[in-house]
Amino acid sequence: MAEQDYDVIVVGGGGAGMCAAIEAADAGASVLLIDADTRLGGSTALSGGVYYAAGSSVQRALGIDDGPDALFEYYMTLNQYRVEASLARTLCNHAADDLEWLISLGVAFRPEDLYASGVESVPRGHQAHGHGAGITSVLDREVSRRPIDVALDTRVEGLIHTGDGGVRGIRAGGTDVHAQAVVLASGGFGANPHLLHKHYPEATAHGDWTWYIGSRHCQGDGLELGAAVGADIVGHNRGLLLTTPNFRKELEVFVPGWLVYVNREGRRFIRETAEYAVMSGAVKAQTGGSCFALFDDVARAEARPDPRFADAFASGTLSLNWVTDTLDEQVRTGRVIQADTLDDLATRCGIRPGSLTATVERYNADCAAGSDSMFFKDAAVMKPISQPPFHAVEIRPAIVCLTSTGLRIDRHATVLDGRDQPVNGLFAAGETTGGVLGERYIGGGNSIANAVVFGRIAGRSAARAAGR
Ligand SMILES: Cc1cc2nc3c(=O)[nH]c(=O)nc-3n(C[C@H](O)[C@H](O)[C@H](O)COP(=O)(O)OP(=O)(O)OC[C@H]3O[C@@H](n4cnc5c(N)ncnc54)[C@H](O)[C@@H]3O)c2cc1C
Repeated sequence: MAEQDYDVIVVGGGGAGMCAAIEAADAGASVLLIDADTRLGGSTALSGGVYYAAGSSVQRALGIDDGPDALFEYYMTLNQYRVEASLARTLCNHAADDLEWLISLGVAFRPEDLYASGVESVPRGHQAHGHGAGITSVLDREVSRRPIDVALDTRVEGLIHTGDGGVRGIRAGGTDVHAQAVVLASGGFGANPHLLHKHYPEATAHGDWTWYIGSRHCQGDGLELGAAVGADIVGHNRGLLLTTPNFRKELEVFVPGWLVYVNREGRRFIRETAEYAVMSGAVKAQTGGSCFALFDDVARAEARPDPRFADAFASGTLSLNWVTDTLDEQVRTGRVIQADTLDDLATRCGIRPGSLTATVERYNADCAAGSDSMFFKDAAVMKPISQPPFHAVEIRPAIVCLTSTGLRIDRHATVLDGRDQPVNGLFAAGETTGGVLGERYIGGGNSIANAVVFGRIAGRSAARAAGR
């Protein structure tokens, strides 16, 4: 038998990988953590740092009564039961405890930063102070405090597989490193157009509108490494897309309330300010897989940056799409379509004309009455569409935020093959896995909670497999 270099090797040092390495080390295992990047953090470090949990001390401080049972019911219902209950249950049961663990390590989740990041009845989106980097800087420090060897700038290219003995190490840069167990935590495949096309065709349906906002190292290596040793890949065509007018390749997660979204039938179909967790699915379901945002010339002339997101605009984190200068510039490129009548605008956009006029008449009457009679949008942000020229911008779900097709695992984060048998010695967590996140993203924070919860479980399971 080959010499044993480590008990556990963790591939990928984002949120899931650092949690796995910390847990494995705390269980007494010798650990090597390897990352392709020159620093730890992955997409987790680039993220908004929102963590979804029910029953936390942050909620209790605000007098919110919530818990894993309510979260599980919401998770399953929103996903129409098309998600494996044992995985969802594990995530729901551990999410709050693992949030407390992050807090105990020094990550700050302030009560004033708790918000409803999905369509839940009580707020569960815990926004970390310092966003994603606020979480990863603390995890990075915890890694460095433990006897964990870290290899950066090192891309794992293969797994050592000994047949019946299972996975016994990794190969990187032509070198074999042996271990009793390996955790794959190499993130998703958003940066790999070939795998996007194969596993997430919905994301590539919009041609050059599609782009990925995460780490360039998230090439889907974990899926390919796992599949090469027999792991099953599940959760086809799942991930999170964000909507965009494609003015620039910049992130957009909130739009102003004065936009009126209509489909090609000329009808509104959602509250325009609905959370991004549900927005892209609703837009995708419309004829043609996209919709149009309407506004009139008064709204165009008065379009100013939303003061709530001033910091994000200033730092370039959020796109300044819906301001007068940008809209005027996009009139010239043709992305903002103009017409003097609603019928002409409809014809130019391929929208059924008569119903568009009826929709706008009803919307304008709602503005005058101070109440959105169809979708309950806050009347304070509504503006009538009455002053020509009228404007329309096509909106598509085309920004890839994360992918959630991946390796099949059980609730112990053991990787399973096509016959549901464990691939011995192999564990996985975070975006590398499939089946934990359902077709519907339950709310901002679903993915980081997944990375932390299953990362910790994978680290403990791997240490146990190594006899620790
Ligand atoms: C801009 C942005 C905002 C987001 N906001 C939120 C949010 O607020 N809340 C939320 O829940 N989710 C959010 N997400 C999604 C979320 O951040 C990720 O899905 C989650 O953090 C993934 O964690 P992970 O540990 O699985 O992967 P990552 O954090 O991406 O880590 C994977 C690591 O593996 C390394 N790696 C890849 N291949 C190899 C290889 N072959 N060998 C060695 N190392 C390798 C990478 O370099 C990377 O460091 C956001 C994503 C982005 C991009």
